[in-house]
Amino acid sequence: MTIYNLGSINADLVYRVPHLPAPGETISTTEISKGLGGKGANMSVAAARAAARVVHIGAVGPDGAWAVDRLMEYGVDTRRIATLPEMTGHAVIAVDDAGENTILLHGGANTALREADLAEALEPSREGDFFLFQNETTCQREAAEIASRQGLRVAYAAAPFDAAAVQAVMPLLDLLVLNSVEGAQLEEATGLAPEALPVRDVVVTLGADGCRWIETDSGTSRHFPAIPVVPVDTTGAGDTFTGYLLAGLDRGLPMAQALVLAQRAAALMVTRHGTADVIPDLKEVQDLRF
Ligand code: ATP
Repeated sequence: MTIYNLGSINADLVYRVPHLPAPGETISTTEISKGLGGKGANMSVAAARAAARVVHIGAVGPDGAWAVDRLMEYGVDTRRIATLPEMTGHAVIAVDDAGENTILLHGGANTALREADLAEALEPSREGDFFLFQNETTCQREAAEIASRQGLRVAYAAAPFDAAAVQAVMPLLDLLVLNSVEGAQLEEATGLAPEALPVRDVVVTLGADGCRWIETDSGTSRHFPAIPVVPVDTTGAGDTFTGYLLAGLDRGLPMAQALVLAQRAAALMVTRHGTADVIPDLKEVQDLRF
């Protein structure tokens, strides 16, 4: 089957600075690196590294051909990525000598996507395919509606968290993935604990404590401990987890097995510095010994 992922594509521009600038201050950077980022792109790369067939739906600007090429190199089908007049989305990240950071996020082309770009993108999908999305693009509800009508299984990673955005799509979801902070924020906004949400499967990630899977129909909740590793950088752990989870489910694994696969991939990820470019492939994940 296929995973259609409507998601952001960003350039992560990381600048090293001696200290973070104060208001009005100008400082010179000592180093720069540019990498592929965005929750959407990360999840597409993770699912493709997990050997799933992934169609990325999204947009870049005229300056984004390199990002599309990078996705293609990782095995993602990029034919549904539009090139729009807006700049490619980007994050300007300043990191100081103590490892503290500040981030400016510019949505750019990610937030210029229009409904007309979507219907066509989902046209070749078949019943049982997955539709995955996050909260970094426009047209989330419109796309989820089309996907749901076409019989796709609809999965949402509720990040960056916005209660109104989750509530707008909740009735369309088959699977909701949240971290524990997002779970608490959603409970505060709706008065509903994860067990009471109107979504068949809810997965709450718990960082070093693993994750929890809630089947709301039966009200059962199962905890899966994390794989014990020594973390060096947790960036991208959640995106890797979700990409691998979807790839496992898409391959027909039962949820419990797909969660174990996702946790193995995420555990490997936290032992590495970087994001999209260091997401492990399926063989590395299967070979992981701990
Ligand atoms: P991030 O925003 O940092 O990418 P997140 O907040 O979306 O992550 P987390 O709950 O922090 O998500 O982590 C996702 C998954 O990654 C966890 O469910 C777990 O499987 C794995 N993970 C995270 N931290 C660790 C750790 N220290 N050791 C082992 N596994 C971890």
